[in-house]
Amino acid sequence: MVVPPRARLASVGALLAVALTILAASATAPPAPRTRSGGPPDAPVASNGGDDLAGPDTSPAAPASPYDSFASRIPKFPPAPVPQPITVPAGPSAPIYKRLPVTQPVAFLTIDDGWFQLPDDPRLMLAAHFPFTMFLIAPVAAKNPGFFQQLEGAGGVVEDHTVTHPSLKGASYEFQHHEICDGRTSLEHTFGTTLHLFRPPFGNYDQTTLRVVHDCGLKAAFYWSETVNNGVVAYQTAEHQIRAGDIILMHFRPGFVRDVIAALVAIHNAGLTPALLENYIA
Ligand SMILES: [Zn+2]
Repeated sequence: MVVPPRARLASVGALLAVALTILAASATAPPAPRTRSGGPPDAPVASNGGDDLAGPDTSPAAPASPYDSFASRIPKFPPAPVPQPITVPAGPSAPIYKRLPVTQPVAFLTIDDGWFQLPDDPRLMLAAHFPFTMFLIAPVAAKNPGFFQQLEGAGGVVEDHTVTHPSLKGASYEFQHHEICDGRTSLEHTFGTTLHLFRPPFGNYDQTTLRVVHDCGLKAAFYWSETVNNGVVAYQTAEHQIRAGDIILMHFRPGFVRDVIAALVAIHNAGLTPALLENYIA
């Protein structure tokens, strides 16, 4: 026997009603207020050049907002120690680090590329207020500098991640020079800061890359110790714990908030505090 058309219609109608209710609920949700834990909405770039590791933000809590559900999951860290930077070896090539040989209880969060720029990202970083490094693709950053300037105001520092995000390994000196030096120059022009560090796209590099990094006036290049994606930390060693000096890689992706919180929880569980990479490279 065939189901009567009316019965089918009724069940379709019920489904539609549920869908519409959900849609209506999301449509009528109030716009998230731009809450901040302190500072003017458009703090100048130089207000936190990344050298201020005096401690976590101690300004009063922001008023309640939907965003507070994220903020409540941010671990509390002790103040970062006064940095004891490592000395970068002199020579014709820049060094590349997978992790930093430091003994202080710190780890470094790095965020790459810049493709997805979601309003929750600066909200989270302003609330969490810890230092981090952004290796940005120069033209991507130049299209929406205001987004990244908000992140600078939250403790982020912009560094070089090329112009077109190619795999540099095996490419000519001239090509790599264009990608690395012009990326640096462009980002410095966009943000009015001086860049010091470089990350090769995909982690692909060769000896030419390290020579070019040095020749472009950058101090060091960075690989990574752990990655974070979909709210999960992927460890490169069997220990499954962040170690002092580890460099954690994540990206500007739709899961940014989950990824940042996963990274911070992992750093916290390891008894470490987030610190700024730039402050550890003399
Ligand atoms: Zn990248």
